Amino acid sequence: MRVFVSGPSGVGKTTVIKEVLRKNPDLVLSVSYTTRAPRKDEQDGVDYFFVSRDTFEDMVRKGAFLEWANVHGNLYGTSIEWVEEMESRGFHVLFDIDVQGVKQAKEKGLQGCFILIVPPTIDELERRLHSRGTEDRDSLVRRMENARAELAMWNLYDYLVVNDSLLECIETVHAVILAQRASKSEMIGRLPWLHTIA
Ligand code: ADP
Ligand code: 5GP
Repeated sequence: MRVFVSGPSGVGKTTVIKEVLRKNPDLVLSVSYTTRAPRKDEQDGVDYFFVSRDTFEDMVRKGAFLEWANVHGNLYGTSIEWVEEMESRGFHVLFDIDVQGVKQAKEKGLQGCFILIVPPTIDELERRLHSRGTEDRDSLVRRMENARAELAMWNLYDYLVVNDSLLECIETVHAVILAQRASKSEMIGRLPWLHTIA
């Protein structure tokens, strides 16, 4: 099972995903490659693989990415090798990728469940991004401009989950994942004997 989660910067994706992963031990977060500098509390190989632009561009040339995009001025990409390695070990994979990445995933015909996390209001989004204290003025302005463009693409997704009450948002994303686990497309491969019933 593949779960794709998007949402504008500051909406609470990282916070929600952390709790959802805690509830689903067989689900892992795809660790992306990025040219962005690490934040204070971020670890290489855990939050991202932090690489130079040269290394990233070399990986693009070699076809190492399932999808990649320039987001807020930095490059971000999903490693095919990393995802396949986790899936071969029996894990389901959750992707925290932006709307451009979701478009590419859909164009490639990737199957999965596509979730957009929506802020209660644009003002609340700005307040959260500001209160996180990780962005300088330029980055904050750029992220808020991009937020509108990302939210305008809501129709690409299967589920729109509002992150107003954090607990409710976590419960709803978790419920969507439980439903996805029981979907026909996920289950039929695990129930071969159902094919044999006339
Ligand atoms: P993202 O990963 O989408 O950029 P974060 O998870 O870093 O967002 O969250 C941005 C900020 O908003 C953080 O300071 C986080 O603690 C806060 N936050 C997340 N969810 C909520 C919520 N439901 N209500 C209030 N603040 C929230
Ligand atoms: P941040 O810099 O706040 O960690 O992430 C910025 C944006 O990049 C978020 O919208 C996040 O979803 C997106 N992102 C992170 N990794 C990837 C990736 O591998 N591919 C794409 N397309 N977007 C990503």
